[in-house]
Amino acid sequence: MTPPPDERILQFIYTLRSKGITDPRVLTAMERTNRSAFLRGAFEPRAYDDMPLPIPCGQTISQPSVVAQMTQALQVGPRDKVLEIGTGSGYQAAVLAQLARRVYTVDRFRSLAEAAKERFQALDLSNITVFIGDGSFGLPAQAPFDRILVTAAAEDPPGPLLAQLREGGIMVVPVGQSDAVQTLIKVTRTATGLDYDDLGPVRFVPLVEGLGEE
Ligand code: SAH
Repeated sequence: MTPPPDERILQFIYTLRSKGITDPRVLTAMERTNRSAFLRGAFEPRAYDDMPLPIPCGQTISQPSVVAQMTQALQVGPRDKVLEIGTGSGYQAAVLAQLARRVYTVDRFRSLAEAAKERFQALDLSNITVFIGDGSFGLPAQAPFDRILVTAAAEDPPGPLLAQLREGGIMVVPVGQSDAVQTLIKVTRTATGLDYDDLGPVRFVPLVEGLGEE
């Protein structure tokens, strides 16, 4: 993917570095993913501002520094099979696709999933598969996963997702009440159980049960 031909991208990467993003693979993936391709016309000029922006179905594309923070915490390797819950615009999946072997992404809104699929095709991102469904249940047929990223806030890390995490696998998920500031949690499955790390406060739209209507 070609970044926009101006100074904004340099400023964008500088901002990510100043917010603690140091992994060169993550910085390169962020630099190569043109966020404006994931936004509707009116918001395109703001693509490189470090803020969440509205997307259809009342959802949001996450703040780039949060996308980078979650991607860095996930420690994605080139052979990894990654599951993302909450496709939204597809931006986060596009970043993950440059670091992983394969990305499976699920959204409960058909229209968001279909729009994201078209973007992935247009951008030649052939290692992403999009599913429509309630991502709280994960994708049992594709499990286990090396990495799982949830981009909507759950009250607790969903049990079916933990069950689909391979030993040595990492899951990153915002946890907490949907109307409050949540905490980003990193869960690592070890040989003996689950380790939890607190990565700090975040704010996400809620993980909602069932399929969306749009
Ligand atoms: N990762 C996205 C932003 C996600 S916004 C991006 O890069 O643009 C959160 C998304 O989670 C929304 O699109 C919402 O529809 C979806 N979502 C919420 N609950 C869900 C569920 N149970 N299953 C699947 N998707 C869900």
